[in-house]
Amino acid sequence: MPVPSDNLRIRSERLWDSLMEMATIGPGLRGGNNRQTLTDSDREGRLLFARWCEEAGLSLGVDELGTMFARREGTDPEALPVMLGSHLDTQPTGGKFDGVLGVLGALEVVRTLNDLGIRTRRPIEVVNWTNEEGARFAPAMVASGVYAGVYDLAFAYGRTDAEGKVLGEELERIGFKGEEPVGARKAHAYFELHIEQGPILEDEGLDIGVVTHGQGLRWIQITLTGRDAHTGSTPMPKRVNAGLGAARILELVDRIAWSHPPLAVGAVGKLDVYPNSRNIIPGKAVLTVDFRHPDLAVLLAMEAELREGAAAIAAEMGLGFSVDEVQGFDPVAFNPALVGRVREAAGRLGYTHRDIVSGAGHDACWLNRVVPSAMIFCPCVDGLSHNEDETITPAWAAAGTDVLLHAVLETAEIV
Ligand SMILES: [Zn+2]
Repeated sequence: MPVPSDNLRIRSERLWDSLMEMATIGPGLRGGNNRQTLTDSDREGRLLFARWCEEAGLSLGVDELGTMFARREGTDPEALPVMLGSHLDTQPTGGKFDGVLGVLGALEVVRTLNDLGIRTRRPIEVVNWTNEEGARFAPAMVASGVYAGVYDLAFAYGRTDAEGKVLGEELERIGFKGEEPVGARKAHAYFELHIEQGPILEDEGLDIGVVTHGQGLRWIQITLTGRDAHTGSTPMPKRVNAGLGAARILELVDRIAWSHPPLAVGAVGKLDVYPNSRNIIPGKAVLTVDFRHPDLAVLLAMEAELREGAAAIAAEMGLGFSVDEVQGFDPVAFNPALVGRVREAAGRLGYTHRDIVSGAGHDACWLNRVVPSAMIFCPCVDGLSHNEDETITPAWAAAGTDVLLHAVLETAEIV
């Protein structure tokens, strides 16, 4: 199979101009974007994207969840397409690049192929997944989740936002409830270019992250029960302090995460003590542990250590103890052949790179269940995202998109 020549590159200025033009739609208050899913701004962004796709000669299909598929035909009518994309929706105080780079980078790949008259055996489809962020309608990545069979369509349609508006109705209102059954469009492979949303690439001065895995996560809720009592009149030996038990479990969570370096992370992000009064020793504490690791065996070991250690703390302190898994997401191992293609493309193009694990969830994490998938990361300044100050450089965007171009071309097969 022919490998694309190493001087084949996308047009950096055109990509950057498109990113900046999209960023004028749904501007945030501090220079970023507020283009939440299924709002009027999302509609406007979708229409601009649709116009660009049409100008690039692509045929647009929209599925029942509003996900947009813009197709460039291949020479083989029987061949399944190579999909590439991400999401155009943003957080309420989002940046200009999270998701948008993956969609407009994919469009730039097609524009480059058009410029050069390059044909591929397989069709190429640029995808904009609906509601990746999950900020307005939880959960995140709901459309790709339905595509991958994780959720059903009725569940997705029934999601409501804070004002009680319903996802299915909002989809209809903005005119993007399509006809195609979700998941009916099959694919040979899926590639997603995304900003890292972490500091590693920038810290190490690298151009490209070759994403090998998506982190798995466990949210474990622990409830400790002691006895509410007066903080002044209760002697120390008589106290059954659920707040103190929670503090010891916080330390335990930190120790467990540190004991599985370098990839394990853990924290307690939510902690409630009851009755939460200045002069009452807490009789109850509820906390949620967030553990993440790309290897399922390690993740399960971390959870087991927590269950055992926290139960021991509670027993020693005379606290009632219960534990529930609130949510779990198993780690994702991206397709090794496609990951290898991303790594080789980065090398061929002369970009510095390293293998990396995605700390955040992405549409590709769901897609990988039904379509062989891979991701490409480019650095972002200070590892910042979900923040209006999120920034990348035109050179970083171009490098990531060059790698996308090469990996896609090799997979779609130049004819
Ligand atoms: Zn994203």
